[in-house]
Parts: sequence; structure tokens; C-alpha cells
Amino acid sequence: MEERIIIVGAGQAGGELASSLRKQGYKGRVLLLGDEAHPPYQRPPLSKGFLQGKLSLTELYLKPLATYERFDIELKTGTRVEAIDRATKEVSLGDGSRLAYDKLVLATGGRARPLNLPGLEDARLENLFSVRSISDVEAMRGRFVPGNRLVIIGGGYVGLEVAAVAVQLGLHVTLLEAAPRLLSRVTGPEVSSFIERFHRERGVEFRLSCEVRGLELDEARRQVRGVSLACQGAPERLEADLVLVGIGLIPNTELASAAGLAVDNGIVVDEYACTADPNILAIGDCANQPSAYTGGRIRLESVPNAVEHARVAAATLVGKMEPYAAIPWFWSDQYGVKLQMVGLSTGYEQCVTRGSVDGKEFSAFYLKDRRVIAADVIGRPAEFMAARRLVSSRAEVDVTRLGDAAVPLNSIAA
Ligand SMILES: Cc1cc2nc3c(=O)[nH]c(=O)nc-3n(C[C@H](O)[C@H](O)[C@H](O)COP(=O)(O)OP(=O)(O)OC[C@H]3O[C@@H](n4cnc5c(N)ncnc54)[C@H](O)[C@@H]3O)c2cc1C
Repeated sequence: MEERIIIVGAGQAGGELASSLRKQGYKGRVLLLGDEAHPPYQRPPLSKGFLQGKLSLTELYLKPLATYERFDIELKTGTRVEAIDRATKEVSLGDGSRLAYDKLVLATGGRARPLNLPGLEDARLENLFSVRSISDVEAMRGRFVPGNRLVIIGGGYVGLEVAAVAVQLGLHVTLLEAAPRLLSRVTGPEVSSFIERFHRERGVEFRLSCEVRGLELDEARRQVRGVSLACQGAPERLEADLVLVGIGLIPNTELASAAGLAVDNGIVVDEYACTADPNILAIGDCANQPSAYTGGRIRLESVPNAVEHARVAAATLVGKMEPYAAIPWFWSDQYGVKLQMVGLSTGYEQCVTRGSVDGKEFSAFYLKDRRVIAADVIGRPAEFMAARRLVSSRAEVDVTRLGDAAVPLNSIAA
């Protein structure tokens, strides 16, 4: 019988894997099962162009539907996998049917972390949102009208991108962040304060070091009317027409743990994307993998990781075995300015900037032992490739030359 690979999750990683398998010459059956109503699509525009109404639904799709037919990929949308039976090598679906696999790939992504506040458990709030899927954006877009008061809980990339779209559409935006500065887990204070100023100049208000104490609901418990908070200990109440929660992601690992696979902040895989079960792989946001870059284990939430991880899994499945070796990188778009990040700045000793912070185009380099371990490139896309090379080469650099925008970045490595 023909060999069959089942991919659970028709998102960025699952979609990439299915086509990558064909490109790498895989001849068996490929089944791509996704619980959403859509074929694989790009999520980054959800908090940017799609929310703003600049992109249509079909422009989000990774590939036109005809491509799946052409590649002989059996795409089943609206199909949820409920369980894995490793003994019989079958998955069971929401409708009770079972499908046999030879190899199974979990590409289940994650879900938005819900706001955990007492008293909200039974409420079905019509104006409290998160942004993970097309349907999330479709549910909230009608309220993105001038004059509406939006409170955003969480100062990460998704919250900041939504803030940028909302003020441009004429909403009053207040963003609440628990940490003393924005993006504190992923960037240095120089970039945090630049981003904060950039948004403030356009009308976004911030409450930093802020604790959300509760939501005020209407009598029917269907609408949020206000948010009560304490900012550096001082109590405050904000009126709200809608509230967005952007406080991170919970990886979808339940299928794997119920099947007895190791889960530790993601489904545990090796550098070839394999779990301890030789017939099961995991990729993308849901997977925790060894990182050649950090030397430890890592779970990444980014498109470049989903794409690269899918490529590694495709190679494994066709027997080529190419280990994951990419350096983490990520981008964000706010008010038409591109922010690109490479590496992880955790543990840096020195930050060197080049370019003009006031001119809104500069790069921040994070150094440890005179080596660039990470960089944030803002509005200088031409510099990004050179920044990536600096991070991946781990070469020692001359700090004075690094900070001098007149010196070509390509010539910095000592
Ligand atoms: C609003 C937003 C903005 C973003 N912006 C950026 C950006 O600017 N740059 C960047 O690099 N990254 C960005 N990201 C992150 C990026 O989109 C993710 O890292 C990427 O989508 C991960 O791909 P994935 O395939 O692992 O997961 P997903 O794309 O989430 O796909 C997983 C799919 O599996 C489905 N699924 C889960 N369980 C089951 C099941 N049991 N049965 C069937 N189907 C199942 C899910 O419904 C989902 O469709 C953004 C993400 C969001 C939400």
C-alpha cells in the first residue's frame, strides 16, 4: 500500500511542509488536516494589513487552492484531529472516523493565552478579543471605527501592531503593560523607549508597570464597559468600547501529551524535528527543539522558524536528515516602518546603535564578549542581511566602527 503522511494543522508550518514534501520528491500520499475553515494562510497580516482592510481574505492564503490539487495534497479543512493512537498508527477525527498513517507530523501551532481574571469564567463577552485567526479579526473588525475606545492588554508585538492600526483608523487606544517597558522580554531599553515614543507621537496612550485588576461588565454580562487597573500601585478605571488581550500564546500540545509524547513548553523534538516516537514529528510554534544558536532548547513563534522547521521535517521524511541550524529572526510592521530582529539578546553586555534614532532608522546591536549576539534593525532593511551575517559569524567586532553608520556593516567583523 502507498505510504501516507498525515499532517495535523493546516497553518504556516503544515502548509509549507505539504508542498515542501512534493518539492523534495516525496511520492506517497500527503493528507493535510486543519480545524479552521480556511486553507493555510499567513497570520502576520492579521494584526496589520488585514485588520486595516488593506488585504483580502484570499491574499492571506499561502497558496491558491488549485496548487494543493496540482501537488496532489489532500487538504481537509474544518477537520479536527481529536486523538492519536500510536499502537495502531491512527488518528481519530471530530466525526469519530479514523485515519491510518505511516508518518504523522504535528503542526498544531498555539492559541491565544486567555485573560485569567476571577469572575470571568462564565461570561461570553462580545467585545473582548484576541488575534490568532481570521475569525478573530472578522469578529472584531466591525468595532474598529473612529471614536471607539480600545484598551489593549499586553505590550508585545501583536498588541503594538493592533495599536498602530487602531490609532490610524481613528480609535482612542490605551495599551496596558505589566512590565516597566514594552517588549521587555525580546529587546533592550533603547528600542523599547523608541517604540514607546513612536506610538505616543501618534496618539497611543500607555500604562506601564500596570496590573489589570478586573473588567467591568454590563448587566447582561455580554459587554465589557471598563477596565480597572493599578499603575505603579495607583488605582484607575478606563472606559472601553472594546478590549484586546495580547498576552502571548499557549502551544497546542494536548494531542501529543495525551499520546504519551514528551512535552516541555512545546512538543519535545530533536534537531531533525522527530519526537521520541520514530513515526511522529512536530514543527513550528508547537515544537520545542534543540538550538544550534543558543546551545540549549528553544520554542520559537515566527514565520521564518515555521518555514525552516517544515523544510527540515520534509528532509527527514524523505530520508535526507538535515539538522535545523537557522538563527532565529522575526519582523514586525508598525505605521509602515519595518522592524527586523535577528538572534536573541538575552544576557547581552552592551548595546551599540548606528543610524538615527530620531530619524526613525537605526540598528541596535547587542554584544557579549565583543561579539554581536542579536540585532534590531529599524527602518534600515538594507542593513538586515549584514546584521544576520554578523550574528551568525560570531566574529569579534570593533565597537567604535560598529557604531559609525559611515562604516559599511559588511566590513565590521574583525
Ligand atoms: C496576529 C499575529 C501576527 C504575527 N506576526 C508575525 C510577524 O510579523 N512575523 C513573524 O515572523 N511571525 C508573526 N506571527 C507568528 C506566526 O504567524 C506563527 O509563528 C506561525 O503562524 C506559526 O505557524 P504554525 O504552523 O506553527 O502554527 P499556526 O499558523 O498557528 O497553524 C496551526 C494550525 O493548526 C490548527 N490545529 C491545531 N490543533 C489542531 C487539531 N487538533 N486538528 C486540526 N488542526 C489543528 C490550528 O487551528 C491552526 O490552523 C504572528 C502571529 C499572529 C497570530
